Amino acid sequence: MQGFNKYYPPDYDGEKHGSLNSYRGKHALGDRARKIDQGILITRFELPFNIWCGTCNNHIGMGVRYNAEKKKIGNYYSTPIFSFRCKCHLCSGWFEIQTDPKAISGARQKDEEWNPEENGGFAIHDTDGKAENVDPLAALEKSTDAQNHHKNVQVPRLESLMDVSEQYNADPYSLSRKVRKHFRQDKKVRVEKEKADIQVRDRYALPTTLKLAEEDEKALQEAKDQWHKARQEKLSLENRRRKLPPTATSITSISGSRTHASSSSSSGVASLRAKILNNTAKQSARHKLGGIGPQLER
Ligand SMILES: [Zn+2]
Repeated sequence: MQGFNKYYPPDYDGEKHGSLNSYRGKHALGDRARKIDQGILITRFELPFNIWCGTCNNHIGMGVRYNAEKKKIGNYYSTPIFSFRCKCHLCSGWFEIQTDPKAISGARQKDEEWNPEENGGFAIHDTDGKAENVDPLAALEKSTDAQNHHKNVQVPRLESLMDVSEQYNADPYSLSRKVRKHFRQDKKVRVEKEKADIQVRDRYALPTTLKLAEEDEKALQEAKDQWHKARQEKLSLENRRRKLPPTATSITSISGSRTHASSSSSSGVASLRAKILNNTAKQSARHKLGGIGPQLER
């Protein structure tokens, strides 16, 4: 009987016996340690996969639990390999399962490896070649196609690539010289342009980050055209202004700011003009009548 309770009998001596278990001559794990002298511990073990019993040939499902004899049988480097020896519950046969997955005896594992094709996927490795059901004519046709492709496409392509490569690698010195010369010329132009840009920016106090437009023939011509067009428009507008009489309406229509200041004076000018016209008309009438104007006028 395992020492479940803490009853200390009268003849128990702590110094002599050490513990209640040793006083009763029992292991701390009780009945599970009954084969501990053979290195076997009885543990509860659950089947990790479906198996077929080797003795009665019955199917035993994954997850069925047994009181298994657990024993260390070796090492994989520093990892211990345990074996679990179970007694079939349907017959009296024993089977043994080890933590080394290759080893199982007394039963066989049901083949339940993941099969992608069964689960709606595609097999990644097709190691078992289906060489036995290949149509020889189809194979011949395929190989002829491959040969033709090799001869007509791949070989010429490779040859042209090799030609190009040879051309590039034939005289590296002259090629490098050519490239460097070209680069130097480019750089000269670029530096000069940069200088001119800086001058322009300095003159007009533009921000240094502002990018100036490229100066080529087309852009210059466009700018010139725009300038001419704007000038023509301005001139025609001025001509039109000159031709129109400076009446009150024309002034109000052209410049809004001047209307209020000049409307009174312009109306005065108009009235003056009307008066003068009136007077000249009267004078001419008087000349026709002959010297009686002043009396009539009063
Ligand atoms: Zn069995």
